[in-house]
Amino acid sequence: MDCLFCSIIKGEIPSTKVYEDEQVYAFKDINPMAPVHVLIIPKTHLSSINDVTEENSAVIAHIYAVAAKLAKALGISESGYRVVSNCGADAGQTVFHLHFHLLGGKKLNVEMG
Ligand code: AMP
Ligand code: ZN
Repeated sequence: MDCLFCSIIKGEIPSTKVYEDEQVYAFKDINPMAPVHVLIIPKTHLSSINDVTEENSAVIAHIYAVAAKLAKALGISESGYRVVSNCGADAGQTVFHLHFHLLGGKKLNVEMG
């Protein structure tokens, strides 16, 4: 299967790694929308939130724990940040490997819809 983020996990496409463990990989977004813009992705391929089930959802909780850890390490845990996952066309999803944007380091746009 041809997937950009699976290729990044395998190291076939370069990325700026921020964190890695058995379950997840985190790297800098190539087109940052904020001073801190990190993508956190499960190593197992899921296309979007649409693929999350009771059976595989443990990794999502882990991703949030990693987000909290990275926010602290990157100095934005007190100033504030946003964790967001776009699902499908109306949300503007462009890469179909589930990913969570960790955004912070500035006053973020409050628009939610
Ligand atoms: P989304 O629009 O939610 O699907 O987000 C996809 C994100 O992936 C965008 O913010 C892109 O800037 C980012 N992106 C695309 N290609 C790369 C890459 N090769 N390395 C890092 N980030 C990327
Ligand atoms: Zn993938």
